[in-house]
Amino acid sequence: MSEELLYAGKAKSIYTSDKAEELIVVFRDDITAFDGGKKDVIAGKGEFNARVSARLYDLLEGAGVPTHLVALEGPARMRVRRLSMIPLEVIVRNIAAGSLVRNYPFVEGNPLDPPLIVIDYKDDSRHDPMLNDEIILALGLVTRRELEELKMLALRVNGVLRDLFADIGIQLVDFKIEFGRDADGKIRLGDEISMDSMRLWDSRTGVSLDKDVYRFDKGDVLSTYGQVAARILGDE
Ligand code: 5GP
Repeated sequence: MSEELLYAGKAKSIYTSDKAEELIVVFRDDITAFDGGKKDVIAGKGEFNARVSARLYDLLEGAGVPTHLVALEGPARMRVRRLSMIPLEVIVRNIAAGSLVRNYPFVEGNPLDPPLIVIDYKDDSRHDPMLNDEIILALGLVTRRELEELKMLALRVNGVLRDLFADIGIQLVDFKIEFGRDADGKIRLGDEISMDSMRLWDSRTGVSLDKDVYRFDKGDVLSTYGQVAARILGDE
């Protein structure tokens, strides 16, 4: 079966593969912010995000979080299990930043203990509005039991990633993950976890090491992503 484009998002394209139950995700060099209002191409970005995402998914599988990862197949190509995606953006926040401080009277940089889970409806045309449990259940997006599972998995992901980043001198401020159901109905982590979907601050200097560098023109995006990838991947 030849590869056929199934879906092109803002930074990734999804293709069919030689196996019906597996897909190929290509991490493109496109970068966007503000619901696509700001757009650029940064050669090499896709490769950094693919390699970081694959490594993090591998670690998470080892920690008991089911993911869609099958294997990294090329510099920016990941083979994944086909999932039916749930249109929720599950965000875990350890430190107040971003939309949380824009929309609520939290002080940027203050720790959130316990971590805060926020769930947005994934729909750019509606600007990904924040949901609550009642709205999620009323929309029939997941069952109550699945919702609890998503939150439990999100906190487990947070625990694993927070420790990993602490060891390499980075504070995991917040991140966004997405889930889907596999052919057996089992919930798995899909999409990506990369510098595009996490907020990372250098523990020593506090400087941004993520897409905020692009959003707010804070420096060289490629070299920032490269530094984070090198710290995560080591000598790989
Ligand atoms: P905020 O709500 O502060 O804008 O984002 C919280 C965290 O979730 C940040 O790490 C941000 O990068 C991530 N995030 C939120 N919405 C999206 C989204 O639509 N796409 C991506 N890639 N990340 C998002």
